Amino acid sequence: MSESAQKILENVFGYPAFRSGQADVIEQVLQGNDVLCIMPTGSGKSLCYQIPSLCLSGYTIVISPLIALMQDQVDQLTSLGVSAAFINSSLNYQQQQTVLNQVSTGIIKLLYVAPEKLLTPNFINFLQFNPPGLFAIDEAHCISQWGHDFRPDYTALGQLKINLPNVPVLALTATADKATRHDITSQLKLETAFEYIGSFDRPNIRYLQLEKFKPLQQIQRYVKEHDNEAGIIYCSTRKKCEEVCDFLQRQDLKAAVYHAGLTLEERSHNQNSWLRDDINIIVATVAFGMGINKPDVRYVIHFNIPRSIENYYQETGRAGRDGLDAEALMLYEFSDGDTIRWFIEQSDSEERKVIETQKFDAMTALAESETCRRQVLLNYFGEPTQSACGNCDICLDPPQKMDATVDAQKALSTIYRTGQAAGFNYIVDVLRGAKTQRVRDFKHDELSVYAIGKEHPVEYWHSVLKQLVHHGLLIQDITESNHLKLTEAARPVLRGEAILELAQPRSAPQPISANKKTNLSKLNYDKRLFARLKKLRKFIADEQDIPPYIVFNDATLADMSCKLPTTLDDMLKVSGVGNSKLAKYGQRFINDISDYLDRFD
Ligand code: ADP
Ligand code: ZN
Repeated sequence: MSESAQKILENVFGYPAFRSGQADVIEQVLQGNDVLCIMPTGSGKSLCYQIPSLCLSGYTIVISPLIALMQDQVDQLTSLGVSAAFINSSLNYQQQQTVLNQVSTGIIKLLYVAPEKLLTPNFINFLQFNPPGLFAIDEAHCISQWGHDFRPDYTALGQLKINLPNVPVLALTATADKATRHDITSQLKLETAFEYIGSFDRPNIRYLQLEKFKPLQQIQRYVKEHDNEAGIIYCSTRKKCEEVCDFLQRQDLKAAVYHAGLTLEERSHNQNSWLRDDINIIVATVAFGMGINKPDVRYVIHFNIPRSIENYYQETGRAGRDGLDAEALMLYEFSDGDTIRWFIEQSDSEERKVIETQKFDAMTALAESETCRRQVLLNYFGEPTQSACGNCDICLDPPQKMDATVDAQKALSTIYRTGQAAGFNYIVDVLRGAKTQRVRDFKHDELSVYAIGKEHPVEYWHSVLKQLVHHGLLIQDITESNHLKLTEAARPVLRGEAILELAQPRSAPQPISANKKTNLSKLNYDKRLFARLKKLRKFIADEQDIPPYIVFNDATLADMSCKLPTTLDDMLKVSGVGNSKLAKYGQRFINDISDYLDRFD
C-alpha cells in the first residue's frame, strides 16, 4: 500500500486501518487503472476515491445522482479539512463559474457533479482544458436498465472514456447482480477494469422478525427500548405512516412522517429534524432513504413485508453504516402478502408479473424460513455460506415445534360449534372465555368449548389460528367478512386421526443473553459518558448548523468513551479523529471527558 494513502487515512480521516477491499481498490486507482468496486452500503466506498483524490496531483470528479447528498458530502469533507465543492442545478451560472475557477486554480480537490451537468457544452469545454486526475462514478448501477434505479442521464457517461481515455475511472455501487455488473463495465467501457467484489454480508445488522400481532404496540415497545436511538419505520402506505406516527407521538415519542403526500417543505423539514437528531424516528414509505447518509441509524422496522429481497436488503441496509450494532426488525403477517400479490396481478405485462411473483416468492421464503436468515439472504445474492450467523432471530431463538393436535382440536371445534360465522377475534374470545356482550347474545358462553383455551394468551391463539389457515385446515372466507371455515383437511385432526405439528408462537423479541451479543456490543465503552458526549456533539452541531454525525459519528464517540482521552495526543488515537477534527473539536471533548472523570475522583 502506498505510504501516503496510509498516512492520509490516519491523519485526515483518523482511522488506523483500511477496511477489507479499500486498500486494494485505492492501490489500483493510484496505479492509474480503471476499477469497478462493488461493496455493500456502509462498507466505506467513499474513502476509495477520497483518499486517491488527496494522493493524486490534480482534482477528482465524483459523479453522483443524489443532488440532495452533495451538500452533506461536502460538509463532511470540509469538517475533515478537505477542500471540496459541488456543481448541480441548485447553483446559478455565476456560482458554478466560481467553483470552476477554484478547481482550475487547484483550490478544490474534490468536485461533486450531477451527471446531467457533466455533459453540458460548458463543462465539456472545461474538462478539455482541465482534465481531472480521476473520475469516480458513485451509484454506478444507475447506468443499467436492468438495475432498480435506472437514470437516463447516466447513459451518456460512456462518453468519458472516449473523450478522456487517459483519466482512470472508478465505478462504485452496492448492487452486484451479474447483469448490472456487465452493463456497467460495457457501457462505461471499462472492460479491462480491475474488479473488486466485496461480500454482501452486513455482519453488524441483526435480522429479526416478529409475528405481527397488535403491531402498534409491538412497535411502541420496541422503540421505547431504543430510546434516543435513530430509527426508520417503513410502512407500505401513506395512511399507515400517519397512523403509526400519530400513535407514537401520542406516546410522547419523537417521530415524524415522510411520504409523497407531504409538501416538499414538510418533507425536507421532517428529514432534517431526523438527520439532526431533533427527532429519533422517521415513519416513511419506501421512497425514503435514497440519498440518506446518516451513519448512526440503529434500527429499521418493516411494518409490512417488502416486495423483494433486493428491497429488503437495501432498506435494512440503511441501518448501521457506522459499523456499530444495528437491528432490522420485520413484522410479519402471512396475509400481508395477499395485497402484494394482488398488486402484482394488476400489471399489464405478463413478463413483469412472472418476475415480480418470483421475487416476492423469494421474499416470502425468507420470512417463512426456519434456517438462519442471513444464510438465506446471502444465498439469494449468490454468496452461499456454510455456517449459521448467530446474529438473527432464527439463530438466537431457534423456532420450536410443538404438538398442537389438542389445541388445534380446541380451535377447530370452537369454530365449528359457533357456526363458522366469525373471524379471528371472536373465536379467540370464545376460546379464552371472554365475557363480551356478543358472546352472551349468541349464548356461546353456554357451549362446551367456551373457555377451553383460557390457559393461553390471545397472541398464542391468533398464531395457532393463522397457522391453521396457513396449513389449509381453515380458510378465511373473504366473501363473508373473513369468517373462518373448516376445510376437509381439518377432519382427520378433529377426529384425532392425525397429529398436527405447529411452530411455537413467537410474538415478542426474546431477551438475548449477553454471550449472544455481537462482537461490537462487546466493545467495552462507558455508556453514560457516551450519552453525555452525544449531547455535546448535538450542541456543537446546532452551533455550526450541521448534522451531529458530521462532528463525530457514533463509532467515534464509542471509541472515545472507551479510550477516555484527556490529552490531544491521546485524542488523536481515537478512531475517526484526524488532524482537522482534533483541532476543531478535540479540546471541547477532552474537557467534557475530564469533567466526567473528575466526578469519580
Ligand atoms: P458506503 O459509501 O460504502 O455506504 P461510507 O463511505 O459512507 O460507506 O462509509 C461508511 C462509514 O464507515 C463512514 O462513517 C466512514 O467514515 C466509515 N469508514 C470508512 N472507512 C473506514 C475505515 N477504514 N475505518 C473506520 N471507519 C471507516
Ligand atoms: Zn442467523
